[in-house]
Amino acid sequence: MIQGHVPYLIVATDYATSCSGTCPTCVLSREERLRPMAATTPELMLKGMRAAAETYSDVGTLAVGVGRANVLDLPEGSIDEIGRVAGGVQGMFGQRDTLLEISTSLVGKLDRQTARALRLLEASGGWNADVRFVVVANTALHSDKYWKNVESFMSSVEQARGEVGEDGNGDILQLALSLDSLPDPAELASRVSYQKAPMNLTWAPAFDRGLEREGALRRMGEWIVEWYRLTADGEMDSSLVNRVRQSLRMMDSGLKEAVEHARNSSAAVVYVRPDGRWHNGLFTVLAEMDPVRFDPEADGGQMAATTPPELRRLMSNPACRDCPFVNACISSGSHRIGLMALRRFPQGTEDCPSGLRGAFEAAWKDREETRRRAHA
Ligand code: SF4
Repeated sequence: MIQGHVPYLIVATDYATSCSGTCPTCVLSREERLRPMAATTPELMLKGMRAAAETYSDVGTLAVGVGRANVLDLPEGSIDEIGRVAGGVQGMFGQRDTLLEISTSLVGKLDRQTARALRLLEASGGWNADVRFVVVANTALHSDKYWKNVESFMSSVEQARGEVGEDGNGDILQLALSLDSLPDPAELASRVSYQKAPMNLTWAPAFDRGLEREGALRRMGEWIVEWYRLTADGEMDSSLVNRVRQSLRMMDSGLKEAVEHARNSSAAVVYVRPDGRWHNGLFTVLAEMDPVRFDPEADGGQMAATTPPELRRLMSNPACRDCPFVNACISSGSHRIGLMALRRFPQGTEDCPSGLRGAFEAAWKDREETRRRAHA
C-alpha cells in the first residue's frame, strides 16, 4: 500500500495499439500496429485499474491514459467504450478529479480524426471527466502538411472547448525522437511555437538503431541541449526545461534521497496491460515511461531501476562516474534512459548515455546566473 497522498496519479492503458504511422523508434510490434480494433476491453482495463487501486489510499487527480497509439482511428464504438471506462473509474482511487488523456498520432484522415475528437469532447459532458488529447508527433517527418495538420487539430479541439486558459487547454504534444532522423531543433521549435500546453520529448534507446553509429550519444546530447536552450529562451511550456530545472534541487542531496525520489515517482505512474495485469512506470525528464515496453531486455529489475546492481552499472560507467548531476539524474528518472542505452555499450561510454547531461549543465548555469544577479 502506498502510504500518504499521491497528488497526481497517471494510470495509462494499452486500449489501442493500432497506428499506421512510421515513427522509427516505435515500441509497438507490427502486429499490434496493424490491429484494426481496440487491443483490450473496458472490462479488462477496469479490472487492472481496480487491482492497482488497492495499492493507493489517497489520490488527488487521477489521469487515465487511454493509449497507446491512435485511439482516434478506432471504430465508432470506441466512444462508448471510453465512456464505460470513464464511468467505471469514478471514485475507484478515491480521487478528487478525473482526467482522460486520449492518445493519437493523427496519422490517417485528419478530418475524420478531428470529428472523432470533437465527438469525444461532446460525449465527455456526461462522464464527469475532462478529456485531453496527447498527440504523439513523429519528428522525423519534415513535410509542412504534416505539421500544419498537427496545428490544425490542436486548434480545432481548443476552439471546441471554448474558454482556454493562458496555459492552453491541457492537450499535450509529445515529440518522438530517433537518432537517424533528428530534426533541426530550430525548425521544429518554430513549427510548434503555437503550442501553449506542455510539450514532452520521448526517446526509446532500446528501439533506436542509430545508437550503434559512431558519435550517436554525443549527437543526441547536443540536440537535447539545443532544444533546452530554444524552448527555455522562447518561454515555451517545455517539460524538458521544467523537469530538468526541478531536479537540480536533488543535485546536492545524498544518493539515498535521490533513489527514494525515483521510487516515489515510479509509484505515481501505473500501466495496465491489455490482459488486465498492471505494473508501475516511471516519470523521466522526457515523457513518462513504461519500462516493460521501453526496456524489453531488462531482467527483473525494479521499474525505477534503483537496485544496487543497476545503480552500480550506472555509476561505474566512465561518463557517469564523476558526473556532478548523478543524483539529479537518478531522482528524475533520467538514469533509466541511460541504463537502456548502456545495454548497447557493454564496455561503457565516455558520452552521457541518457543524452541529458548537457541539459542539466545548461539548467545549472541558468540557476547560477539567476542567483548571481539576485545578489549583485
Ligand atoms: S546525466 Fe548522463 S553522465 Fe550524468 S549520471 Fe546521468 S546518464 Fe550519467
